[in-house]
Amino acid sequence: KFPPINGDFYDTREYLNADEKLVLDSVRRFMIEEIEPIATEYWMKGEFPFQIIEKMKRLNIMGLTYNKNLGGQERSNLLEGMVGEEIARIDVSICTFFGVHAGLAMNSVYHCGSPEQIEEFIPPMIAMEKIGAFGLTEPEVGSAASMGLTTTCKREGDTWTINGEKKWIGNATFADIIIIWAKDEDDHQVKGFIVDRNTNGLETEKIEDKMSLRIVQNAIIRMKNVKVSEERRLQRANSFKDTARVLKMTRAGVAWQAVGCARGAYEHTLDYTMKRRQFDRPIAGFQMTQDLLSQMLSQLTAMQCMVARLSSLQDQGSMSDEQASLAKVFCTVGCRTITSMSRELMGANGILISNKVARFLGDAEALYSYEGTKQINSLVVGRAITGLSAFV
Ligand code: FAD
Repeated sequence: KFPPINGDFYDTREYLNADEKLVLDSVRRFMIEEIEPIATEYWMKGEFPFQIIEKMKRLNIMGLTYNKNLGGQERSNLLEGMVGEEIARIDVSICTFFGVHAGLAMNSVYHCGSPEQIEEFIPPMIAMEKIGAFGLTEPEVGSAASMGLTTTCKREGDTWTINGEKKWIGNATFADIIIIWAKDEDDHQVKGFIVDRNTNGLETEKIEDKMSLRIVQNAIIRMKNVKVSEERRLQRANSFKDTARVLKMTRAGVAWQAVGCARGAYEHTLDYTMKRRQFDRPIAGFQMTQDLLSQMLSQLTAMQCMVARLSSLQDQGSMSDEQASLAKVFCTVGCRTITSMSRELMGANGILISNKVARFLGDAEALYSYEGTKQINSLVVGRAITGLSAFV
């Protein structure tokens, strides 16, 4: 019933045990049956298919690596990465929704929250009873978030007041809680807050005119004297270094998403070139087509092997920032190359959104830029190689 697995040439799936393969198969079935038939329509409309949330709850994939006492499954980062690949292989926007909620927002609470905050927020987030968003980027501060946040927080008694704007915040139009990162007016350190979206003074405005990840609801957030209690301040977030601990995890996730996006494009293109006939034969039979297919597969295979090893390092607890950044760069650059070769091989049909590959091509652009652009992640790696920081 399902298409053959032809974009996993070195059988990375074999790293999983039989039980883990069942999880992956259930995700594949969900994506093919529930998402693939509607992805193009919702991408074109720029809307999120809210009806899938109930079905996603049943799929039960939001807490794969979390402890069972929090409602999680205590499974490996490798499985979680492959789940991300499987989702992105059909639609990168849905994978971004997963990445923002289960990656950025939940990791912020888990890695920067107190035991009480973890106990209060993680179980309902795993169950998708509460959906999360993550607000770091601002209209005028993107790559330089580590030093230049202009959103401020100020404490008076046990109440904090937050003022400022955020931009690009995924899920923010409908999330129950938004993690807001702001600079303390007194000690000038970055702090994190778990903010209810409906708090007085907080407004969201959907960004409408994207050419990438159109299903994801990105928003501008405006905050005017938003009051948050000390109880809602992430108790273990004391500076941007703590925000960076969250980003390390999610950069590994973006690398997996890029693998999935590239794989979806490659597999669809392979199928197309086998069926499309010119000069009385399938275009897949031409030498130059095969050269491109072979280049795509070699790039894709290298990416898959890299992220599989990265997740093993994560499972051992030894993945470094630089290792995550290197994979994020390598896989998003490769994804851009593969999706562009895919489009080329499909000729004019390659620019039609209904033919899927154009959607992957557009989506690859956001992967390339978010969670640290290619340049910023390369500088993280460059600093590790040379010992010299090229940041200011
Ligand atoms: P800029 O920082 O303005 O960079 C522009 C260019 O300058 C880039 O090419 C960059 O690499 C280059 N550049 C900047 N500094 C240097 C340097 N020192 N050396 C060399 N080159 C440099 N943010 C959130 O907080 N939450 C979200 O949920 C979220 N979701 C997103 C979803 C999408 C679809 C997109 C597109 C973005 C999202 N972002 C989110 C924001 C994202 O993380 C930022 O876009 C990213 O960090 C880059 O910032 P910027 O776009 O402002 O680019």
